[in-house]
Amino acid sequence: MSTVLRFVEHQISRHPDSEPTFSARCLNPDCGWSVAPTTDGEQADVDCMEHTGRTGHGIFGRRCEDVAVVTRK
Ligand SMILES: [Zn+2]
Repeated sequence: MSTVLRFVEHQISRHPDSEPTFSARCLNPDCGWSVAPTTDGEQADVDCMEHTGRTGHGIFGRRCEDVAVVTRK
């Protein structure tokens, strides 16, 4: 029995037709506030700071999501 292993180099990158989206949620246990997914990451951060200004809640879970594509080099 023999096995042929072929090394093929791959690369991963953001899919050209996609834009990254940003979202955030307040981690205060009594608060369900969140930023809906948006392509404007700066605005998402501003929304968080405004939430802190209104409520004093200052800890957020932030998420950035994009679509990746793997291709053979
Ligand atoms: Zn909050």
